[in-house]
Amino acid sequence: MSYDRNNVFARILRGELPCHKVCEDEHTLAFMDIMPQTPGHTLVIPRREARDLFELAPDALAATILTTQRVAQAVRQAFAPPGVMIAQFNGAAAGQTVFHLHFHVIPRYDGESLVLHGAKMGDSAVLAGYAERIRACLDR
Ligand code: AMP
Repeated sequence: MSYDRNNVFARILRGELPCHKVCEDEHTLAFMDIMPQTPGHTLVIPRREARDLFELAPDALAATILTTQRVAQAVRQAFAPPGVMIAQFNGAAAGQTVFHLHFHVIPRYDGESLVLHGAKMGDSAVLAGYAERIRACLDR
């Protein structure tokens, strides 16, 4: 299947849809997941068009995983969870619902299960606050 230029993340990248931005650079964008599985759930995407892990050229993939590490460090600082999960799905059968490559950065807590994947919309003001909290911890 070919890349759909109107997928939701492509539209966020073009500024056609809003997001709670955490950081951006030449190659990548990080923003709050709109249906967080735990507080602080953040997404990291490449700017380049790629449906999944298999479609992205190595240089852009390297930039994306480096941003994922940078964001995960900030999330860890901001929320102090005992664990941080990095998740990435390829294909509907694997659970992918948005077909622009993305890495999930999800704080995890002992004994706390995840809210169902993409199940409940987060409160916009709360997500804005989380984004600010994570931004304040970038590169610290
Ligand atoms: P996946 O199932 O791995 O493709 O995950 C897609 C993720 O994108 C889900 O966790 C959704 O909650 C999230 N999502 C969908 N639309 C938006 C949006 N407009 N802004 C932020 N996150 C979104």
